[in-house]
Amino acid sequence: MKTIGLIGGMSWESTQTYYRLLNKKVGEQLGGLHSARLVLYSVDFAEIEALQHQDNWEATAGILASAAQAVEAAGADFLVICTNTMHKVAPQIAESTDLPLLHIADATARVLLEDGVTCVGLLGTRFTMEQDFYRERLVAHGIEVLVPDDNQRELVHTVIYEELCRGVINPDSRAAYLDIVSSLADHGAQAVILGCTEIGLLIQSSDTPVKLYDTTEIHVDQAIKLALEGM
Ligand code: GLU
Repeated sequence: MKTIGLIGGMSWESTQTYYRLLNKKVGEQLGGLHSARLVLYSVDFAEIEALQHQDNWEATAGILASAAQAVEAAGADFLVICTNTMHKVAPQIAESTDLPLLHIADATARVLLEDGVTCVGLLGTRFTMEQDFYRERLVAHGIEVLVPDDNQRELVHTVIYEELCRGVINPDSRAAYLDIVSSLADHGAQAVILGCTEIGLLIQSSDTPVKLYDTTEIHVDQAIKLALEGM
């Protein structure tokens, strides 16, 4: 088994999910007391969040590049950045080490294409929904991406930072998210990407007839595949 190198803490609420699912699924695949071989560098999210909202992405890249080097020195074989948003600085992080990076948008695109989904709705932070670094990565795989309207994007973004990253699960926010999922489907989305690693804490497939693709689960599944089989 290869050693999975996680850069987490963005937020730690979703890193818990990564840690739990990686171990649980490796146990299911290998049986007995098997668990995932991994190293985790977990950042102080307050620092990252402040820099994001100051538009100082270079400073976040510096912090995460150092984290990647620490993960490499600790013996990781490849890198998993446990957040969609911080893939904005994935190129700088990848350049800072010799480790291969399992990019979350590529992982997601692979699953969508396997399932024949070519038009998809995207939920995530404003950075993820509005900027090119993520959407263009999906478009490059031949996938059309629909995002919610401006008011809806504001709601989705605020709930992520004010609630989900603080461990708050609010039924009103769940209902609002499900309305947005339905409206994306009404606009032609065949499915919706939960493109923020905390959204799966709020809504799940059983809540809606619209097919959901949870990036945390997809990232975990492909990290395990890479660790156990290579890709
Ligand atoms: N975990 C989130 C994501 O997947 C948002 C927190 C962050 O800004 O990293 O985008």
